Amino acid sequence: MSPWGRGVPTALRTLGAGVRDLLLPPACAVCRAPHRPEAGGVVCPRCLAGVVPLAWPQCARCGHPEPAAADGTWSDACRWCRRWPSLVRAVRSVAWMDPGTGGPVVHALKYEGWTAVAVVMARAMARLAWPPDVVAERAALVPMPLSAVRQRERGYNQAERIAAALAPAWGVPVWPWALRRVRHTVSQVRLTPSERVANVTGAFAVPPEGMARVAGAHLVLVDDVVTTGATAVAAAAALVAGGARLVSVVTYGRAPDPGTSAPFDYDFDRT
Ligand SMILES: [Zn+2]
Ligand SMILES: [Zn+2]
Repeated sequence: MSPWGRGVPTALRTLGAGVRDLLLPPACAVCRAPHRPEAGGVVCPRCLAGVVPLAWPQCARCGHPEPAAADGTWSDACRWCRRWPSLVRAVRSVAWMDPGTGGPVVHALKYEGWTAVAVVMARAMARLAWPPDVVAERAALVPMPLSAVRQRERGYNQAERIAAALAPAWGVPVWPWALRRVRHTVSQVRLTPSERVANVTGAFAVPPEGMARVAGAHLVLVDDVVTTGATAVAAAAALVAGGARLVSVVTYGRAPDPGTSAPFDYDFDRT
C-alpha cells in the first residue's frame, strides 16, 4: 500500500491537471483572456462570437456574398467568380479576415504557434454548404504546400493542420503528397494583383509519383486564407496539369482585395 494512502489517486489527478495547464495555458489563443479549453477549444466564446461570417445569400460557385442591385434584386453576375478559371468548381470560406476576429484567429494559428486553433477553424469549415456534386465527388483534401524554407521557419504547415482536422468530418483522406512547391516565391503582400499572378504561376506541381493517384479526381485545396485567389488558382492549375479533373477550394478566411480596401497589419499570404 502506498505510504500516502487513499488520497494518492486524487493527488495525482490534481497534479496531472496542473501539469496539463502548464503545457496548455488556460488562456484564449486570440485575446489571451483566461479561458478553459474544455469550454470548446482554445479560442474563447467571446472571440468566436466576434468572427464575422460571409453573409448570405452567396454565389453558388465562389461563395461570395451576392451584392444587391440598385433596384434591390440580387445580381446574377458575380464579379468574384471571374478570377476563378473553369477548372475551379467551387470556393467556400467561413469568415472575413476583417472586420471581426477572423483575422486574429488565423494569425494565432499561422504566426503564434497555436496549432490547436486549426481544430476550431476546421469545425466551422466542416459546416460549409457545397453544391451536391462537390460533396459527391470530393476525393481528398490537398493542403496548400509551404516552401521548404517557410516550413522550416514555422515548424508546421497551417494548411496541413486544418486539413487533418477537417478530413474526418468530411470522411475523405488528406493527400499532402499531391502538390509541391517547385520554386520559392516572394511575399505576396506588397504585390499588385497582376504581380501576384506572375509570382505564383509555375510555383506548384504534382510530383511524378503522385500523378497516377490524382488522375481524374475532384480535389479540394485547403488553405487558411484566400485573398486575390492568385495562389489558389496557380495551385489548382498545377493539380489539373498533373491529372486532376476539377478542384474546389476551401479556406477559413477570406480577405478583401488589397487594391480595394485598407491594407492589413500583417501578411496573410504565404510566401
Ligand atoms: Zn478570446
Ligand atoms: Zn461567384
